[in-house]
Amino acid sequence: MGYLVLYPPHGKLNLRNGVGTWRFGFIEGVWMVGVIDEIQMPVNETDRNPIIVDLKTRVLETLPAESQRRNGRLQLMCYKYLWDNLVADNFPSRQFFDFFSLNPYHVLSEEVREITAEAGYPAKTLDDIVRFYMNTWSMLPPAHNQLLLRYEFQKDQSLLGEVEFAYDHDWLKSRIQGCLEFWKGEREASYIPDEERWKCKYCQFASVCSTIDKPESSRNASKTNSDSFPS
Ligand code: SF4
Repeated sequence: MGYLVLYPPHGKLNLRNGVGTWRFGFIEGVWMVGVIDEIQMPVNETDRNPIIVDLKTRVLETLPAESQRRNGRLQLMCYKYLWDNLVADNFPSRQFFDFFSLNPYHVLSEEVREITAEAGYPAKTLDDIVRFYMNTWSMLPPAHNQLLLRYEFQKDQSLLGEVEFAYDHDWLKSRIQGCLEFWKGEREASYIPDEERWKCKYCQFASVCSTIDKPESSRNASKTNSDSFPS
């Protein structure tokens, strides 16, 4: 089960301007927070599903290695998973208020009330806002199955390349489950595969890592991070 909420930064829910929208969601019992970079609305009437886009800025004028692209794919698939669940289900508002220790009936500040009124949904409490978003989400279509990663060169914002890929629900579920098992302490950390050992140069744990100098062949094969979960 997963959930997602959009918070439009300028107080307006306008998906045609859906750039830099905060989102947080509930996935497999864990809350997630992040930002959707861009939502592209379909240009023709036969396709109703918005395309979720993530923009990656590169210091080097090259496309990233496969492991980084894979992380980008995982991130975008999480967004789609959360989006589609919110469109299809009811947002777990009680769990949301409880988890973040929020009083749904606390009266919002005057500034926030003014922003919501200007945006066309006058809200007095946080509960009013959550209800508005739940209603709005229920009217939205599921996200497009095609997802898009866009890479730009930081120096001049020129386009380095775009990677389009299809949503893969089974792959996403297995990755999420693998990550959650580690985060919840239900499995040990996996070893990093040899082709990704370059990451060790940037790792803050390198000085205390017991596996950094060991070749892959000397490690326990069953624990090798062949699917590249975080080591
Ligand atoms: S924990 Fe060790 S193996 Fe993993 S990235 Fe850091 S230095 Fe490399």
